[in-house]
Amino acid sequence: MPEVIVAVLAGLAVCQLALFLTTVYLHRTLAHRALRLRRGLSLACRSVLWITTGIKARQWVAVHRKHHAHTDVEGDPHSPVLRGYLAVQFGNVGMYRTVANDDATVARYARDIPVDRWDRVLFDHSLVGLSIGIGGLCLMFGWRLGLLAAGVHTVTYLFLNGAVNAVGHRFGSRPYRGFATNNQWLAWLTAGEGLHNNHHAAPTSANLALGRHEFDPSWPAISVARRLGWLTVRHVGIHLSAQDPERTEVAA
Ligand SMILES: [Zn+2]
Ligand SMILES: [Zn+2]
Repeated sequence: MPEVIVAVLAGLAVCQLALFLTTVYLHRTLAHRALRLRRGLSLACRSVLWITTGIKARQWVAVHRKHHAHTDVEGDPHSPVLRGYLAVQFGNVGMYRTVANDDATVARYARDIPVDRWDRVLFDHSLVGLSIGIGGLCLMFGWRLGLLAAGVHTVTYLFLNGAVNAVGHRFGSRPYRGFATNNQWLAWLTAGEGLHNNHHAAPTSANLALGRHEFDPSWPAISVARRLGWLTVRHVGIHLSAQDPERTEVAA
């Protein structure tokens, strides 16, 4: 196989790993407490997210909780209902950064995620983490193909996260109330996040697939880790939030 194809595939693989850790650790574990991870696994997730995304966990959690607190109304950091689909699909990262860099918002929405010594020494230094990640790809593939792989990862990661917030509140099925939508095709690409209407209906559910014909690609890995005793799941079964008590139609 030509080296350039291998580098592109490596970039896509890194992107999938980062998306998987974003949904399992930042989203389901930290933001919604749907999972509880053993300390070693938690540290491993933080480390890999650090070198693949440079995201500061408490900032991601604060932006996301603000989205749940003001879904598609004034105050939502990235609502396509308010700002239009294209603005969120392509401007999501800018919208994220505006809220993530607001210290008062982070203090308010992520007060349960204090800065610890790991943050002070490693994880708050985003550029160091990203340099390690990109440096690793350059060591593996040489600097040209390493940068290509890093570029593929960056573009697809930002685009797919934009799609979760933009497509996921604009196009697709709505088995539960609200503007959020389910798109199984997007769930395949985003480690389950495309089942976004389900998630808004049952935000503390560790499994984002609620309907019979839905599949959450992260769930098998979570189930295996649970059987191995690496994590615990908050609920087994469907726990709908008070705002979304009824399934109004069967998902396609
Ligand atoms: Zn949403
Ligand atoms: Zn959420």
